[in-house]
Amino acid sequence: MKNDHAEPRTASEAGWRLSRYNISAKHPENKGFIIVNLMKGTCITMDPIDMLPLSALDTLSEDSPVLERYKKAGIIVNFDEQAMLESLARGACAYPVSVGLTVCPTMGCNFDCPYCFENHKAEKMNAEVQDDIVALAERMLNASGAKHLHVTWFGGEPLLAPDVIESLSDRLIKLSADKGADYQATIITNGYLLDQEKADMLSRVKVNSYQITLDGIGPAHDATRHLAGGGPTFFRITENLRTVKISGKINIRHNVHAANKGEMEQLKAFVQTLAEESGNDLRYYPAPVSGNDASDERQSNVNLLCGTDSAEVGIMQDSHRFHRGRGHYCMAHHLWGVGIDEKGRLQKCWEDVDKPEHSFGSAKRWDPKDPLGTADDPDKLTVYLNTAGALRDAECRDCLWLPACCGGCPNKRIYMERQCVPYKNEPEAYALAVWQARLEKKR
Ligand code: SF4
Ligand code: SF4
Repeated sequence: MKNDHAEPRTASEAGWRLSRYNISAKHPENKGFIIVNLMKGTCITMDPIDMLPLSALDTLSEDSPVLERYKKAGIIVNFDEQAMLESLARGACAYPVSVGLTVCPTMGCNFDCPYCFENHKAEKMNAEVQDDIVALAERMLNASGAKHLHVTWFGGEPLLAPDVIESLSDRLIKLSADKGADYQATIITNGYLLDQEKADMLSRVKVNSYQITLDGIGPAHDATRHLAGGGPTFFRITENLRTVKISGKINIRHNVHAANKGEMEQLKAFVQTLAEESGNDLRYYPAPVSGNDASDERQSNVNLLCGTDSAEVGIMQDSHRFHRGRGHYCMAHHLWGVGIDEKGRLQKCWEDVDKPEHSFGSAKRWDPKDPLGTADDPDKLTVYLNTAGALRDAECRDCLWLPACCGGCPNKRIYMERQCVPYKNEPEAYALAVWQARLEKKR
């Protein structure tokens, strides 16, 4: 706290101290150090002379101008950072910037990957469920005051129900406009049915990001990602990517495991060539998965959005989306993101979208104004919400990574075990990667 009338104090007398969430790395060109603050989401470089004030907090005045830079970057703080994280976690259900719906227009799929455990019911979402979703989106926007609605089309294979995507998108886009909110969408598709007509429709309904999986080149891909009833898919998917003009970013996910690790460079080069030939914004995305995960399509999709077990890939992903500390890990920690299956059942986690037994309620009845009173099974909601606030976990409380990690994936915490950031023991590599990612952005 500032003392305007008393004797001048030193910085440390005024409570200034090093943040517990600083990490550092040597500057790669010998220009001192890179300091990253995980709480404030900042990254600065300092030469050794710059660093002197940090060891002089006992003598420098609290108002010394040489400290301003460090205060601004959160490198030194005069408040309890753990208390702030606790408040952020408690506030996770308060007012958000964005409402997120993960919608499965069908759980049916035209692929029959031998590893997929989904029960592929061909049923499509009916008109009544679509009405319920629009009404739910309106309740969520009203209750939250959010000015952004984001939809992720998921499944099953969502392009088996393009009519549902189109009609529901039109209504959600109109709703957003009426509420003064902006609207964006993403699709997770296997890419087999992505022809020009569908790509044009998706572009019109504001889908600006795609996620498509290739398991390798040609037969390597076809061995695991074949059609229901048999038949290859690689050629058709890649021809779609080559010939269809697709607006938006297309992330090509490669499930990397021991057996196909050697193909990474080859597939990456293939995707780059495909991008050059087509003019589409294709980006290769290696996603190392372990043992069973490699043979679990849904897990692959979930990992795509929710993280990886590989330190190297984790650093690559997270350094590019580095942000200030917050109280929640994903939509499972707050009220403003829900998964919805073709029957209108609501889930808190991507992993649960095909598990009706984990549903907490329905699009028809659930109202975030009374989230527990209107939940059909409030325990299925609270089990996730209450994993926010990892400060109750002694290991997380003392952990350097808490502002960024928030205690890890709630699903893993509930059903398996705490999932730490995969680069937990590599803060220097992470700091360096954050610095490099920022440099790339500036260029
Ligand atoms: S709980 Fe985990 S698996 Fe589920 S959506 Fe969140 S990060 Fe993904
Ligand atoms: S889950 Fe692991 S890495 Fe994350 S805050 Fe807790 S102890 Fe740290």
